[in-house]
Amino acid sequence: MAEKVQIFNNLTRSKLPFVPVIAGEVKFYSCGPTVYDFIHVGNARALIVGDLIHRIFKTLGYHVTFVRNFTDVDDKIINKAKEKNEDALAYAKRFINECNIDMNELGMLPATHTPIVSETIPEIINLIEDIIKNGFGYVVEGEVFFHVPAFRSYGKLSKKKLEQLEHGNRVEVDDKKKHPSDFVLWKPAKEGEIFWQSPWGKGRPGWHIECSAMSKKYLGETFDIHHGGVDLMFPHHENEIAQSEAGNGKTYCNYWCHHEFLNFGDTKMSKSLGNVVTIRQFTDKFGGVVLRQLLLSAHYRTVMVWSEQAIERAISDVERIHKFVIHFKIAKSKNVDSSGSDELTGKIADLVNKMKKDLSNDFNVPGAIAHYFSMIRMINRDYLDEQLDFSHKKKLTPDLIKAIEEMTLLTKNAVGMIYDNPEEVLKTVERAKKNISKQEQKLSSETIEQLIIERKEARIAKNWSRADEIRKELDASGIILKDSPDGTVTWSYK
Ligand code: AMP
Ligand code: ZN
Repeated sequence: MAEKVQIFNNLTRSKLPFVPVIAGEVKFYSCGPTVYDFIHVGNARALIVGDLIHRIFKTLGYHVTFVRNFTDVDDKIINKAKEKNEDALAYAKRFINECNIDMNELGMLPATHTPIVSETIPEIINLIEDIIKNGFGYVVEGEVFFHVPAFRSYGKLSKKKLEQLEHGNRVEVDDKKKHPSDFVLWKPAKEGEIFWQSPWGKGRPGWHIECSAMSKKYLGETFDIHHGGVDLMFPHHENEIAQSEAGNGKTYCNYWCHHEFLNFGDTKMSKSLGNVVTIRQFTDKFGGVVLRQLLLSAHYRTVMVWSEQAIERAISDVERIHKFVIHFKIAKSKNVDSSGSDELTGKIADLVNKMKKDLSNDFNVPGAIAHYFSMIRMINRDYLDEQLDFSHKKKLTPDLIKAIEEMTLLTKNAVGMIYDNPEEVLKTVERAKKNISKQEQKLSSETIEQLIIERKEARIAKNWSRADEIRKELDASGIILKDSPDGTVTWSYK
């Protein structure tokens, strides 16, 4: 029997018991990345949240069909490929491969299906034909639009009213549209651009239609859960609902989950803002296991802020977890009383139940992880030893070992934070620690310039001890000062 789950549903803006279309099954769709470059750690949050929903349902006993797409036909891809003089689809394929490498580093389970737009064109065309046939779409000079006022429940997810949208300034003005909110389902190809033949001429799909067509292809007309970032709720998801319900005449999706942003300071990390750290830049220095741990540390509905402290915390958590796994394995072979039993076993069984409860309570991963850390604390204190000297420690018993293993397996399966090769992980941790201390040494150039000015002022005031202190402070941060005879000071990294 699958565990009961509660989900915060953005359709109702409330937490509800999860009732699947088919008992014991979950049909789940998550909007995947647009592959025009290496993807960034903000996108990684989207991928990890999708992976968590997938894993948690599986672990709680459901049969899950999980679909995550790649957008391989898009203006940004076409433009980037043009710059590089490459075929747009081949260019996108290259970044799909890079993205798969990143996902592997992040310890993600493969989705059941990972469709791409260029292989879903017949399904997209069929759905657009149904939309037109049902009176929700119209064609102007080879371009097909969705007529928003025809779909009466438009706005049911984003809670936006059509009248507000008419006066809003976010809607582009286009002479061909019957209504300013109408959006493109199919657009004619420009000269030299990738295209497919369609009943409306040579062209390619608009962005929103791909998810409606892909989810229908693999999950059917009505499915259980749809996930994406909060930025996608409007217009992307609102438009998906309109397209699918207009074309199929059925409810599209029952539960809508949106994760919050990963921010850089006060703003969203985004490629277009240029404030990104790519997954690859991060994992090269710190490893995927650290990025995963970092992203697990906040509930999916809270905003996360990217910071050095968060990275440090993640490194130390990864180390703690994997050291525990290694020490426990050794203790199992060296420090066991095979006839004994231990009252701690019951406490760990309680923690397992609490963990399941958190996992099934709107995917409360930080809560679930906290129970695993409680167990680590208890077992480290009384049974394990860093130096592998167990002489002052209690002996593990078979029932206790079983309870610890059950909890470890549950954690591994449901949140994926325990990697298979703990010794390798500890090497990654060492590399991460070296790289973080290098990063710490690097003061910003503004701070350095400021300290140089302060030192100059201290020298003018003949405050030699302060001037000396500043030089030492900079030296400790890896900065060398060079005093020229004319009084100017230059600096460089050691
Ligand atoms: P895109 O490639 O921009 O369509 O984004 C793919 C997924 O990443 C979507 O679910 C976005 O909502 C999500 N995403 C993009 N930037 C961020 C960010 N800074 N924090 C969290 N999720 C993001
Ligand atoms: Zn989508």
